[in-house]
Amino acid sequence: MKKISVIIPMYYEELVAEECHKRMTTVLKSIDNYEYEIIYVNDGSKDKTLEILEKIAKNDENSKIVSFSRNFGHQAAVTAGLKEVTGDVAVIIDADLQDPPELIPEMLKLWEEGNEVVYGKRKTRDGESIFKLMTAKMFYNTLNALSDVDIPKDTGDFRLVDRKVVDKMNSLPEHNKFLRGLWSWLGYKQYAFEYERKERFAGKTKYPLKKMLKLASDGIIGFSSKPIKFIGILGCISIIISFLILIYSLISFIGNFGNITAGWTSIMFAITFFAGVQLLSLWMISEYIGRIYDETKGRPQYVIDKKINIEEKEETKK
Ligand code: UDP
Ligand code: MG
Repeated sequence: MKKISVIIPMYYEELVAEECHKRMTTVLKSIDNYEYEIIYVNDGSKDKTLEILEKIAKNDENSKIVSFSRNFGHQAAVTAGLKEVTGDVAVIIDADLQDPPELIPEMLKLWEEGNEVVYGKRKTRDGESIFKLMTAKMFYNTLNALSDVDIPKDTGDFRLVDRKVVDKMNSLPEHNKFLRGLWSWLGYKQYAFEYERKERFAGKTKYPLKKMLKLASDGIIGFSSKPIKFIGILGCISIIISFLILIYSLISFIGNFGNITAGWTSIMFAITFFAGVQLLSLWMISEYIGRIYDETKGRPQYVIDKKINIEEKEETKK
């Protein structure tokens, strides 16, 4: 029998925890020929969330709990959940039922047909403020313009992932994982599963502006080195301006117009020229730091799905 693992992060979700468990269990029980486990990750909630989860786990051996010592954030919670997966396929889903659990059987079918990552793509988003929709749109556009891998728009963490891809994700050593980007980075056979995102079942969003900005910066800094190049461009512009000042002064001196005050040219040239030189040096240093950053992330250079007619090499003994 195959097994499906569901990861549900929870932060101050006492209003939805029970309903979430009920609906999720109903769906998972209805799927034939699959065992299941639900991994709840309590991300340091100080309300009754953990209490409710403990009660649930007491009466249900399929429910497991990982509880953080404090709030470490949504991405950390999902990362912790992924480490506990024992199934053949994993589903990541929010606790607030915005992503309907009833879609899981359909997604599972797509997985059985050979798709390795089935990610939820939001066709519509009910009950979210214009501010949230606009900032989300801005974020995805900026991220895509800057980043080196294609990160699909309107996609959150709701997805179904093959165990082998989960294992690859778990093997990446980097901190501050921006999961949505990394799933794309890992590759494999991906399928965009369109769905309608519902309103929150109860409670308020746990993503205030501050957390959204942290997520955005993890995404952009983690997936792009283009901001560094910007320093270099600025440096070049500054140097070009310095020479334009020089040329302008020379022409106005020869043509006898403009009445440039004595000393203006040398000061303006020196300021813009050396500002440019400094920016260019900064850019060079940043390029090196960028390389160091890249190495410390420890992402492998490539990910191999399978090898054919190549034996796995045995560790050579000394
Ligand atoms: N969440 C979490 N830690 C946090 C913030 C959120 O584990 O610091 C969980 C939250 O309980 C929910 C999911 O992440 O299950 C998505 O959060 P939310 O629904 O508040 O975000 P939104 O849907 O508004 O983007
Ligand atoms: Mg939500």
